[in-house]
Amino acid sequence: MPLDMIRHRLLENWQTVPVYNTHCHHLPDQEMQSLTLSRLLQQSYVGWMASLSDVHDREARRRFFDDFRCNSYSFWLFQAIEALYPQEHPLNADSWEDYDRAIRLAHETETHHLDLLRDRCRYQAVILDQYRDPGSDNGHPEIFHPTFRCDAFFSGYDRGARDHDGVSPYDVLGLSSDLSLDEYLAAIRLTITQARDSHHAVAIKVAMAYERDLLFLPPDRTKAERAFGQTDAALQDVRAFHDLLMDELMSIAADLRLPVQIHTGLGQLDGTAAMNLRPLISRHQNVRFDLFHGSFPWTDDILALAHVYQNVYIDLCWLPIISPARAIQFIREATEVSDARRIVWGCDTWTSEESYGALLAVRHCLAAALAEQVASGYYDITEAERIGCRILGSNTRQLMNLN
Ligand SMILES: [Zn+2]
Repeated sequence: MPLDMIRHRLLENWQTVPVYNTHCHHLPDQEMQSLTLSRLLQQSYVGWMASLSDVHDREARRRFFDDFRCNSYSFWLFQAIEALYPQEHPLNADSWEDYDRAIRLAHETETHHLDLLRDRCRYQAVILDQYRDPGSDNGHPEIFHPTFRCDAFFSGYDRGARDHDGVSPYDVLGLSSDLSLDEYLAAIRLTITQARDSHHAVAIKVAMAYERDLLFLPPDRTKAERAFGQTDAALQDVRAFHDLLMDELMSIAADLRLPVQIHTGLGQLDGTAAMNLRPLISRHQNVRFDLFHGSFPWTDDILALAHVYQNVYIDLCWLPIISPARAIQFIREATEVSDARRIVWGCDTWTSEESYGALLAVRHCLAAALAEQVASGYYDITEAERIGCRILGSNTRQLMNLN
């Protein structure tokens, strides 16, 4: 069978497959109802790349499309918008108002954003990282399962500090800052246990790569104690506090049987390649590590870790919309060096439209990667179909204990 035909058949097969999505930051209901085309772009990765505040007139919009149409975030978001809100012409400066009108009109129905997730994306469950309100399911337990975002806890040594999203650990814990280090760690354990038991949190999440490197060493308790309660603690003591907290989080995850989702790769960039996690993974081989983003651009790191450590899961989330070219190559290599059980996917988006674009992107990348393998005789098309279904669905269901 020619390559194109294999690709086409795989895509067709995955069109209707139920999807379990490891990761999103879906906005709360009230922020969805005021969506316009402009806000949709601002609430996406396109808004990370392009300044959209001055895209008001046709000339500015034309410049925006000229500059950013080649960017992969734009490409997949435009694909989604055109598929979800079909108009006479493709999305461009001249058709802007038509798409804008269609988006506003659709979101007048309050449940439109959830309908898209269920009906168009066919999501059975989505893991929600609501970093501004850790542990939240946005009031929709029927689709969202929280992953408990732990970044704020890393700033708890300084009683007035907040994390890179502006969240105070003491607000998350609902406690005053007048705690001993042991009381602080116990409060974190209790909060995460309650989140699992009463709010159905299915994982914990650390995205400290936006704030520091990922090298977490065996903790030095004396130094960590020295940092606790200080606003101007020495850097080495702060790092010891981080080490102690990270090890405690791993122990909580092991006791509660929650997988640990860790952002790797892009972020503050110095020391954020996944290989920096090797000492942590090596110390906690009873914890399942769900490593995000293929550690892009250091994708080799994840492949090596998954090869050596059976408790490392390869999470493709974000990667297909960062760079489809890299994602295709990475998927081929990941299936070769790991197995069909430990590769998962998440959209990593704030809106349903961008989530649908991310889903189109991963299907495209899976089909391109696996079709090449089928064409080269690596395995047959039935096997490729099955592996794609597992990556989009059942692997996540098992990893997160969703039933
Ligand atoms: Zn994310």
